Amino acid sequence: MDFNKRILLENQAWASRKVEEDPGFFERLAIKQVPYALWIGCADSRVPAELLCNADPGELFIFRNVANIVSLDQPGCASAIEYAVHALGIKHIVVCGHHLCGGVKAAMEEEKTNLFHVDNHLVEIKETRDKNKKELEELPDDNSRVNRLVELNVISQIEKLSGFEAIKQAATGTERGIRLHGMVYALEEGLLREIAAYDVGPDRWVTPD
Ligand SMILES: [Zn+2]
Repeated sequence: MDFNKRILLENQAWASRKVEEDPGFFERLAIKQVPYALWIGCADSRVPAELLCNADPGELFIFRNVANIVSLDQPGCASAIEYAVHALGIKHIVVCGHHLCGGVKAAMEEEKTNLFHVDNHLVEIKETRDKNKKELEELPDDNSRVNRLVELNVISQIEKLSGFEAIKQAATGTERGIRLHGMVYALEEGLLREIAAYDVGPDRWVTPD
């Protein structure tokens, strides 16, 4: 089946199934969105945020890029976060890395990928790698090193978010503040795990749920 046939037919099949299950589904969504979380994840096709959270359209506000990097100096990323916490009133932000992430794997290597933008994008993961050189070297194999760097990268993104002015402002005056959730998805099992959590407002690390 060619590309257009496939994508349009799959869409029609999905839309009719939704209407069959719930006739008012699309009409309600057209009125407004009330997502319960902002999801910042990797662009990897094996980590589809809605599917693995069993979520419908309207439930997650999503920003994805290679290796789930929060680039606050880039308008695309900063504006998505600002919109999520100010306009949509979202109180939970997830940064989700995943096992065997290709971006993190590439950052583990000394050599460049020879893809200009990818190499630029991965610079900060290389810095995280260098800062944690000793711990990573002590791990038994390459996959464990990549998976540990995935965790360290997630924590580093949470640290960045915790100091982001737009989030701090949105958390001011709210009862529980805004919670940042650092998660890792084990794609070989289909399971998510929370590895770190931080409350902006009270400004403290908390034990993950
Ligand atoms: Zn990835």
